[in-house]
Amino acid sequence: MIHTWTGFCALFLVACASNKGPAAASVQRGAGTVLSDMSADAVLYQYASAEVHYLYLQSYALARLKLDRNLSAPRQKPPAVIVDVDETVLDNSRYEVTNVALGRTYTPENWAEWSAMEEADPLPGAVSFLRYADSIGCAVFYITNRSLEECPSTLSNLRRLGFPQTEEDHVLCKEGGSDKTERRRAVAEAHEIVLLCGDQLRDMDERFKDRSVEHGKGMVTAMRDSLERYFVLFPNAMYGTWRDAIMERGTDAEKLGRVRRFFKDNAY
Ligand SMILES: [Mg+2]
Repeated sequence: MIHTWTGFCALFLVACASNKGPAAASVQRGAGTVLSDMSADAVLYQYASAEVHYLYLQSYALARLKLDRNLSAPRQKPPAVIVDVDETVLDNSRYEVTNVALGRTYTPENWAEWSAMEEADPLPGAVSFLRYADSIGCAVFYITNRSLEECPSTLSNLRRLGFPQTEEDHVLCKEGGSDKTERRRAVAEAHEIVLLCGDQLRDMDERFKDRSVEHGKGMVTAMRDSLERYFVLFPNAMYGTWRDAIMERGTDAEKLGRVRRFFKDNAY
């Protein structure tokens, strides 16, 4: 077992010399553990801070204000609210706590194990906001990048927590890529989308996938009017497009290398 930072670094260096065989496999575990440790503050903030607890309540209070305002405008079709699922209505921070405790990072397998447990808690304010939307005649659609295989357990998790309108045709899981544009368009065929809620800017507009210029901040400025009118953003310090843009895809060792380079490149 490697117990020290130096130990991990030594393993990491071995990986650079050879990327085949058992040595590479143990280096891989080492880099994953370092990445997992690096995420600890973000996970603590999300899981154990009253600040995030209140940020959700605050954001759902803002959602209600925006919903009421947008519903007062004339429209051609029945109104709909679209919400994302993970870190918008369901709280997966306990899964992330487990990753840190075990020194591991996300894999499709360990995520599938968690989502199948159906034990995600509701985020503060989510159930009451959506019940309010439901009570005033708004359609509610859940657009999530959980896979089709995960859809049944997601539905049952949402239903157990008392979320409204959790019929199968109101929970739109990922069938192809992670781009939600087509699913939003499908909702817009019969509804006027009056509000979107998500922990990622991509839950509003896929153009936010591009973080190549100023980490996407200029695009926020360019789209500020429509964001302020139609979107409510929730905090997620644990993962997202913002982090993927820096880590990119690849092995844990490759991701760790890119993160380290990012900090070095951006230090004063
Ligand atoms: Mg999400």
